[in-house]
Amino acid sequence: MRGLAATARAGEAVIRFEARAYRVPTDAAEADGTLAWSSTTLVLVRAHGEPTGGGTPPVGIGWTYGPAATATVVTDLLAPAVADLDPDDVPAAWRAMCARLRNAGRPGIGGLALSAADCALWDLKARRLGVPLARLLGTARRQVPVYASGGFTSYDREQQHRQLAGWVREQGIPRVKIKIGESRGTAEARDLARMAAARSTIGDEAELFVDANGGYRRKQAIRIMRAAEALDVRWFEEPVSSDDLEGLGIVRDRVDADVAAGEYGYDLAYVHRMVPYVDCQQLDVTRCGGISEFLRAAAVAEAAGLDVSAHCAPHQHLAVAAAVPNLRHLEWFHDHVRIEAMFFAGAVTADGGSAPVNLTEPGTGLSFRDADAERFRVR
Ligand SMILES: [Mg+2]
Repeated sequence: MRGLAATARAGEAVIRFEARAYRVPTDAAEADGTLAWSSTTLVLVRAHGEPTGGGTPPVGIGWTYGPAATATVVTDLLAPAVADLDPDDVPAAWRAMCARLRNAGRPGIGGLALSAADCALWDLKARRLGVPLARLLGTARRQVPVYASGGFTSYDREQQHRQLAGWVREQGIPRVKIKIGESRGTAEARDLARMAAARSTIGDEAELFVDANGGYRRKQAIRIMRAAEALDVRWFEEPVSSDDLEGLGIVRDRVDADVAAGEYGYDLAYVHRMVPYVDCQQLDVTRCGGISEFLRAAAVAEAAGLDVSAHCAPHQHLAVAAAVPNLRHLEWFHDHVRIEAMFFAGAVTADGGSAPVNLTEPGTGLSFRDADAERFRVR
């Protein structure tokens, strides 16, 4: 009889993880209100269900974006915690990994490692069963609505115009987001000029979203939205620090745009604390604890009457975004769209404003192009 910890019996499959990291330079300088960067690191986890006998066993893949050290957390901390567990018992593996992170810390790279490993295990389970991951989770939709995201504060007027016009006119994406709050909110005039330029580029063909990445103070955020009233901004992300829950609530009550936050949520309790203060709860499957915790966090938002919006890592989100009834949209983030198209066979496009969910191939339907990625490998 199987034990309480769902330990695999003799002869059954057990879990083995491997993890690698790849650092990819950006295609131009990128910055938002509170950070600038010139490269992005993808940490890939492969989950092997060691076979009971014969044949090529399926391999699950999951990934996150974060420091290369995340890969070490996977191999040194998480892998031993699940080494004798049945790969089909994902919740048992999830609990074992969480327990192992108690003293190391769940938020930060602990949460990134947990998330990538959990996503890899869900993908592995779907592949072992020979079904698409979205089918295993259950689907609320077969196309996931997206909004295009980029518009970095480091772009000049022409770069921003080209990017936004491409999304709206060439790809038909009806929602676009730019970064504001430049230099921690000290460049208000430029923020407003860039928002006006964005509206001028997209006309009335798309909704305009903005993200201050916590760059403003409370009253400043409200004043910016008043000054931008004619631009019909629909989404105001992290107007103030996402640690200032009361401030998020104050801004939400005083501006027309929907206030959103949640991209730094590493566990369910974080989401539970935030939902009273936002209009739309953001969740990131590569940070919050993987597919296992994303589903629970979406339920917490639903209980507060909120939609959720999936943050970045678009291909890692597609299956779980299809599974969540109260999903509003998925962030089609320039940086990650570019990297995922380079590294994953089976990557899709979001033409028309939505991305198709894999409903034919086992798992995510994606395979990692090792040969193409190798030159970027840092671990
Ligand atoms: Mg954001």
